Amino acid sequence: MKLPSTNAWWYALVAGLAIALVLLAFLQYRSSRQIREATIDQMLASLQGSLMDVRDGLERELSPLCRAFQINEADPHRNIAADYVEDFNEWRGASSHPDLVSGIYFWQRTDSHKSQLFQLDVNHNRLAPTDWPEGFRNLQERLDAMSSELETTLTPASDLRGSRKPVSLAPQSSSWMIDQNIPALVHGIREKKTQGSKETVSLTWLIIRLNPETLGQSIFPEIVQRYFGKQNQSTYAVAIVRKGASPLVFYSSDDRFGVPGEDNADAALNLFGPPVPLLEKSRRGTQPWLALPGVTPPTTQPNRVTIAPSADPGIRPAPFRIDPLHYAAGDWELLARHQSGSVDAAVTALHYRSLAINFGVLLLLTATTVLIIVTSQRARRLAHLQMDFVAGVSHELRTPLTGIVSAAENIADGVVRGEERVTRYGAAILMQAQQLSDLVEQILLFAATEKNGHRYVFQMADVDEVIEAAIRNASPVIRNSGSKVEKEIPADLPQVVVDFKALTHCLQNLITNAIKYGGAAKWVGIRASTANGLNDPQEVRITISDKGMGIEPKDLERIFEPFYRAEGAASAQIHGSGLGLPLAKTMVEAMGGRLTVESVPQKGSAFTIHLPIKSQQEALDSLSAAPS
Ligand code: ADP
Repeated sequence: MKLPSTNAWWYALVAGLAIALVLLAFLQYRSSRQIREATIDQMLASLQGSLMDVRDGLERELSPLCRAFQINEADPHRNIAADYVEDFNEWRGASSHPDLVSGIYFWQRTDSHKSQLFQLDVNHNRLAPTDWPEGFRNLQERLDAMSSELETTLTPASDLRGSRKPVSLAPQSSSWMIDQNIPALVHGIREKKTQGSKETVSLTWLIIRLNPETLGQSIFPEIVQRYFGKQNQSTYAVAIVRKGASPLVFYSSDDRFGVPGEDNADAALNLFGPPVPLLEKSRRGTQPWLALPGVTPPTTQPNRVTIAPSADPGIRPAPFRIDPLHYAAGDWELLARHQSGSVDAAVTALHYRSLAINFGVLLLLTATTVLIIVTSQRARRLAHLQMDFVAGVSHELRTPLTGIVSAAENIADGVVRGEERVTRYGAAILMQAQQLSDLVEQILLFAATEKNGHRYVFQMADVDEVIEAAIRNASPVIRNSGSKVEKEIPADLPQVVVDFKALTHCLQNLITNAIKYGGAAKWVGIRASTANGLNDPQEVRITISDKGMGIEPKDLERIFEPFYRAEGAASAQIHGSGLGLPLAKTMVEAMGGRLTVESVPQKGSAFTIHLPIKSQQEALDSLSAAPS
């Protein structure tokens, strides 16, 4: 059975990791969306709950007033005016908003044709006849219609037989109603009278006019603050408005919210009557008491009673239920909107933020994985190259060593006789030893540059002098190979700021390579010139060319990597360590220059050192800044 190669394992691992990451990203996105939806639903539901609390809060605020005027038991001695004034004063003494009531009226219908409106004069304990105030017209018509209807349906009740006293009337299902236009609380009272054998039922309507300023400026803000927190710290803007034909903002915790015509609330609830969510999105909430679209809202609610509260002082009295009188002008609505524009916007922003963080983490994970893979690949390649290097260097060391050993053996065995032969052997040993020393030097230099441990000594140098020094150093190799060196160096070349020794070493390396890989042509071209370099500054270029084997395009990018040797060079049995070019590149770059190559396989190569030309001042600056 053939085992998969290490590379196949690697590719499988990388593919697996990539798939896992994509899957993770997808799951992350999906679950984050689900969390977003659930959060929006939950926030809207809890917002509806808070709006319900505000409704309850308002009913609790108005309940003491209703309780003060509620008549539960027939009282034979009741003097309506005096008793109501007493009840009213009692309420006023206990209330934190005594200015809530701006007028108390009684509208009496002795029969269907005769009626009179009275105003309670609290200072004189009497009921004074008065005209209908402005704005009461709708209410008057409504009460008139209700009275006619009720009178025809009312028959004396058995429990009230013989009584002459008024009893609270419960028109429809509630005994208290609110006219949201005036605004005013309305309460029906019926009175049965016996005239001889004839029993008549008279209706009296109690109208308590409320002060809209007190509601808007004191009561609403207090209740809203109780359930939504302080105005400037609340997550939601809350408003109480009247919609419809004559819109009005009673209260808004944010000036820009609740403005007529702008329908940007997250939740809306009617303030009186059975609660009905007024917005599409409010229906997302799953409150069991909320009416569903198309379903008639419940007319009674649990924990609410229409009778007077328990007399037990230990139990907090339940609020009175107050039913709305609907008009075309519109009912009061309670609106709330998230401070960020909407619950949707707030949660979406949070959702995107958390998505960004999550994807950031995933990206980091991906980057780390890629880095680990790349690093380990590089480490593997480096290990491979190092093995090649060890093999190559051993080979490089063995060749001159073999020469030295055999020459020394010949001298020791006395095979070499005569002064001239001994001198030749000596010279051969010297050359081989020199080669060895150069190689060791190269390896040490490479190690030093890799650790940034090489110290450069910068100076102003003439280019032709550096080239001459490099040729001089390479002269044994040039001579032995029988190569011809052709120079083309203009006389007026500017000086360059370089480390003379380092640049000489680089050039020597390139000349040696040109001879090593120059093939049968045995020709080395050295050309210097000035030109515009990258981003246009002037530079000196020194090009070393040969007409040898050239470099394959696939090797061109890699020949500057440490220990890398092109396949052609190795198979042609040309010795080398793969350190010369990386060393030259590092050194040239340390001197502010670049090393480039152009090559055509089987035609030859040209390596160019680009050195920036510095102005006098720049040169002085770089000399003084350079480490000595
Ligand atoms: P070495 O010559 O010791 O192998 P270098 O770092 O000097 O190491 O060169 C790296 C590789 O670049 C060489 O092995 C060779 O394949 C290629 N190379 C360098 N110079 C030339 C050149 N003038 N012509 C063709 N190939 C070259």
